[in-house]
Amino acid sequence: MKVHNFSAGPCILPPEVLRKASGAVINFDDLNLSLIEISHRSKSFVAVMERAQSLVRELLKVPEGYSILFLQGGASLEFVMVPYNLMKKGGKAAYLDTGTWANKSIKEAKRFGEVDVVASAKDANYSYIPKDYTIPSDANYFHCTSNNTIFGVQMKAFPKTDVSMVCDMSSDIFSKRVDVSDFDLIYAGAQKNMGPAGATLVIVKDEVLGKSGRDIPAYLDYQTHISKDSMFNTPPVFPVYVSMLTLQWLKDNGGVSWIEQVNNKKAELMYNEIDRNPLFKGTAEVEDRSNMNACFLPIEEASQPEFDKMWKEAGISGINGHRSVGGYRASMYNALPLESVRTLVDVMKEFERTKG
Ligand SMILES: *Cc1c(COP(=O)(O)O)cnc(C)c1O
Repeated sequence: MKVHNFSAGPCILPPEVLRKASGAVINFDDLNLSLIEISHRSKSFVAVMERAQSLVRELLKVPEGYSILFLQGGASLEFVMVPYNLMKKGGKAAYLDTGTWANKSIKEAKRFGEVDVVASAKDANYSYIPKDYTIPSDANYFHCTSNNTIFGVQMKAFPKTDVSMVCDMSSDIFSKRVDVSDFDLIYAGAQKNMGPAGATLVIVKDEVLGKSGRDIPAYLDYQTHISKDSMFNTPPVFPVYVSMLTLQWLKDNGGVSWIEQVNNKKAELMYNEIDRNPLFKGTAEVEDRSNMNACFLPIEEASQPEFDKMWKEAGISGINGHRSVGGYRASMYNALPLESVRTLVDVMKEFERTKG
């Protein structure tokens, strides 16, 4: 039976990417060697890294003056590297608190200096994106999280500010168009729209680096990686390869503007049903709803096991909500087909019929 994978992360990848990746594990580039048993300095792998970087540049229209890195440590290590590299000694940074991940980034930044939390949605269990706030002009940078994976809210616009902007785009990068020139640094763990866990994409404007006045350990210094073309040490070869394949898949199908339309359609279908069906209610503020993660609750908790049985029988997987929200979370990342959303919507309708 076909499985409809709504997992929040790691998550669904295009089937043809998985097929190619599994082939490369056995025989890569007709070398009769596995991708994961050859030198990362070999011609074949260097070509993979260069291709992955150029696809990022092309798909996101990254301007001149920015470097593209594939690092390790996940988005969680970027929570540390960002203040290490960008917060001046005795300086301060501004952060927008939109949920669990934003919170973790704030916690790490506080180890380096003053953190001004300009706004927080904690008062309403992070069900909305704060909009009226002032970014202090003396902040070294402003940090935000574009998509709140856990609570299902997404920034539909970014503030206009002269302060250097940094964004954690782990769960919506490559899902819609974004103007990279608005940001000095963007980072994203690979495992939501790009590839397997183990690689972290960093897009950074070169000129903002080297100014923190801190003695940064080599691995944690972005300049180290830039000077070595993202090959300072052994890169995560398999995650970089699979990310390259996923980006190629995206390009071949029409790129970011194509997937943005597909993602809009999926989200519309999903939220229309959540709003229409009297047995469910959405948890996020309507205008801030995420196109990637739709969170919803059953009106009657007692009927939950019945609904659970129905979606499991339909081949749906991974829609249990995060423990901090409860209910359900349907994650609709790039590789999730529209057909999977239709299947879930049909089950919700069927559930209504049986209860009606
Ligand atoms: C999943 C996620 C993270 C965590 O990333 P790791 O790579 O596991 O450290 C951070 N931020 C956001 C927005 C996420 O969705």
